[in-house]
Amino acid sequence: MDLSLTESEAAFRDEVRTWLQENHPGPSPEGDDQAEFEFRRSWQRKMHEAGWAGISWPQEYGGKGATLIEQAIFNEELARESVPAPANVLGLVMGGPVVIAQGTDDQKERWLEPILSGDEIWCQGFSEPESGSDLASLKARAVKSNGGWKVTGQKVWTTYAHEAKWCMLLARTDQDAPKHKGITYFILDMEQPGVEVRPLRQITGEAEFNEIFMEEAEVPDENVIGDVGGGWQVAITTLMFERAGLGAAAVMGLRRTLNDLIALVTERGLEDDPLVRQRVAEFQIGIEAMRLGALRTLTATMKTGIPGPEGSLGKWQWAKYNQAMTEMASEVAGPDGVKVGTETTYRFLRSRANSIEGGTTEVLQNIIAERVLGLPRLR
Ligand SMILES: Cc1cc2nc3c(=O)[nH]c(=O)nc-3n(C[C@H](O)[C@H](O)[C@H](O)COP(=O)(O)OP(=O)(O)OC[C@H]3O[C@@H](n4cnc5c(N)ncnc54)[C@H](O)[C@@H]3O)c2cc1C
Repeated sequence: MDLSLTESEAAFRDEVRTWLQENHPGPSPEGDDQAEFEFRRSWQRKMHEAGWAGISWPQEYGGKGATLIEQAIFNEELARESVPAPANVLGLVMGGPVVIAQGTDDQKERWLEPILSGDEIWCQGFSEPESGSDLASLKARAVKSNGGWKVTGQKVWTTYAHEAKWCMLLARTDQDAPKHKGITYFILDMEQPGVEVRPLRQITGEAEFNEIFMEEAEVPDENVIGDVGGGWQVAITTLMFERAGLGAAAVMGLRRTLNDLIALVTERGLEDDPLVRQRVAEFQIGIEAMRLGALRTLTATMKTGIPGPEGSLGKWQWAKYNQAMTEMASEVAGPDGVKVGTETTYRFLRSRANSIEGGTTEVLQNIIAERVLGLPRLR
């Protein structure tokens, strides 16, 4: 493992840093979900116009074709400069890469450019009320009709469904096949009478995710990705991109949170308290170990071309440290740490979801036990 940047990688880092500093959109509007979303959409458009939106996408599809090292540098710089997340994060991280990997030429032609520009937002309709970790037990049903399919069923926790034009949708097309084999991967047009989106308000007060109710919602044959009945494989590819995307900016984001925590500790005059110092030091050490682990994973991926199961470790650690640091910030802030509307309270409340979203901590621990450490399977 070589931790130093080559001359061209350092030049790339400087180019990214300069562009971000010169084009930073400023602080996001507060207290208005819709205004904040549109702010992030126009930031994404600006990034796209400068060629940065699809950093990891191949150049032939409007991306930058960056190497894995360049992607890691880019993600570090985004976090360092505290820029907002692009609006179409699910399209950029999952939808586009899945269409590139497994879509037809027509599908690439139709969907990729509006994902990059943010003109068409994507969401991910996988989870159902009875199917989360055990995703293959999903029950939404698609029945063949003239030139397409009619889908009936319910999805839940669907982030940005209320903004989305397209949904990566898993539905059962064969009731008799074994559960992993009877699933098909559709791209559902959200703007049709058979689709109803109902917002779910979170503990933070935002309605970032939703329920989707589908009643004979129509999907044409050309919106199937992969084979009919072959949706599970496409879903696994999607989840692999999701986890890689989550892991990418994690360390730098944690570092920022730690710096904010240290500033708060100093502001409250607690910098000499030995117990506070010890906890801060533990975060410092844990996050540095995580950074080195991420570099080791990157080195392995560069050799094999495929992210391995050890990527689950970064997601688990990110959830653990983010929750612990936001909790400590609430303690240090005293009464301000539990007041509605403060940044400290918001971060504490939002971090509660970290150990659930993108795979629960328990499920990630199983993956690490079985596939990284080679321990016997649970069942
Ligand atoms: C903020 C947020 C955004 C989300 N966005 C989306 C989205 O856009 N699209 C989408 O499809 N989904 C989304 N989800 C849903 C998310 O993927 C699921 O919540 C997650 O997969 C867990 O599923 P579940 O909620 O059904 O819990 P369950 O799977 O029912 O788990 C319940 C508990 O049992 C534990 N458990 C389950 N199986 C095992 C096992 N084998 N071994 C040990 N413990 C186990 C879990 O760890 C958990 O503690 C989102 C969730 C959150 C919190």
